[in-house]
Amino acid sequence: MSSNRTIQGMIDGGYKTRAYCHNPRCGHHAEIDWLALRAKLGPDHGARHDDIVPKLVCSKCGGKAIGLIVTPGTKEYGGNPYEKAKGGR
Ligand SMILES: [Zn+2]
Repeated sequence: MSSNRTIQGMIDGGYKTRAYCHNPRCGHHAEIDWLALRAKLGPDHGARHDDIVPKLVCSKCGGKAIGLIVTPGTKEYGGNPYEKAKGGR
């Protein structure tokens, strides 16, 4: 069973997640590196919006108002970018 509720689930499912800064004068956005977050927070850490957003700070303006957009790692979207890291606990 695949779950996208944990960081490991995001990696196993190949979910690509883009974080957007909500500061209108900033507009910075960046891809979330789930492998780096797994190293930092552990594979079983929650990956839902409320679990992850408090850990994020905009690297450009330092703002904490961050939005997430998740893209599945299916073939239409280019496959799982973490294929090599799957199950690599
Ligand atoms: Zn920002």
